Amino acid sequence: MSEAALAKEAAALDAADGLAAKRAEFDLEDDCVYLDGNSLGALPRGVAGRLSDVVGREWGRLRIRSWEESGWWTAPERVGDRIGRLVGAAPGQVVAGDSTSVNVFKAVVAAIRLRDTGSRDEVLVDAATFPTDGYIARSTARMTGCRIRVVDAADMAREAGPRTAVALVNHVDYRTGRLHDLPAVTAAVRAAGARTVWDLCHSAGALPVHLDATGADFAVGCTYKYLNGGPGAPAFLYVRRALQGRFDSPLPGWNSHADPFAMDPAYAPADGAVRGRVGTPEILSLLALDAALDVWDGVDLAAVRAKSLALTDFFLRCVEAYVPRGRVESVTPEAHGERGGQVSLRCAAGPAGGAGDVMAELIRRGVVGDFRRPDILRFGFTPLYTRFADAERAARVLAEVLEGTRRQ
Ligand SMILES: *Cc1c(COP(=O)(O)O)cnc(C)c1O
Repeated sequence: MSEAALAKEAAALDAADGLAAKRAEFDLEDDCVYLDGNSLGALPRGVAGRLSDVVGREWGRLRIRSWEESGWWTAPERVGDRIGRLVGAAPGQVVAGDSTSVNVFKAVVAAIRLRDTGSRDEVLVDAATFPTDGYIARSTARMTGCRIRVVDAADMAREAGPRTAVALVNHVDYRTGRLHDLPAVTAAVRAAGARTVWDLCHSAGALPVHLDATGADFAVGCTYKYLNGGPGAPAFLYVRRALQGRFDSPLPGWNSHADPFAMDPAYAPADGAVRGRVGTPEILSLLALDAALDVWDGVDLAAVRAKSLALTDFFLRCVEAYVPRGRVESVTPEAHGERGGQVSLRCAAGPAGGAGDVMAELIRRGVVGDFRRPDILRFGFTPLYTRFADAERAARVLAEVLEGTRRQ
């Protein structure tokens, strides 16, 4: 298909896009093709004003009173519930705070502590996991006398057995964009008598997740990717309601105490999602996240998913049409049921340099994706602010960079 035909198709798809108006809620230059929202989401316009009020009035004028009067103290649960809606969790099961790494630690240790027998001494870790999950899981295993078994996420359902205490799985592979079958893996791990900890970093806000309906035990995720919470925004922790009473946090800070201001030397855990808290919440970033979540009000995740798949399909077609054969190869699954919100292209070294050089040149030409060593070009498609025209332009500029040309 010709460039003109694809550009025309992009314009028609944008015109018919029910989410198109959302882009105006983000602070993005019109000519900016931002395909790195799976690493750092773009800035929602409402954040700066809200933060300025938080700093100037709530902190500056109300000072200590804001813990009560501005709702700071309960912000982790309130923001957690807003995230909960986006990942299929009824209120009271998600708490926002700490980093994903820290929440992986809480969840994996808590899952091990829930095992029915000490002979379950195995922690299954997804072979392609984002490294931090693996590092933390190894430490939890050392602390609890368990061992790590590295398993392909696709084999997790089959591999869980009588020795398994917990399976830690990335819902979407951060490198390839492969989506794993959360309902099936959760059911199989549960049937084996073990617990699941899902890392939703690349699915929260990218596609519908149904934590409650699928019976997932624990989930964690970050909020600075598809949820646009800002650099280092607080992560979240989900603990299924049925487990909350037995959830034994390995980080029982005073914020998780049933009566924190009793300042009791003896620990007594709070009920509910609060038990996942540790210390004083990071209020400024938490409230920036709270404001950022406004863009999700009224948004249907099914529509987000439909647009995400349409965008990635369209991008792949444009790449196929424009990029000289054999220069890049998609490592993202073709099948919709196995695809997350990004497209990853393997790019061998060529006249335009290695994949890192290619991405640097793309960024210079206004198409921002990212590079993952050794040879992966990642393009994240965040449906709230990415246009079909962006997908077309990204593929066209990629072809130009690889050909060493510049069309205008
Ligand atoms: C981004 C990401 C993380 C990041 O963890 P932090 O503690 O926020 O640095 C963890 N896991 C996965 C799968 C990720 O994609």
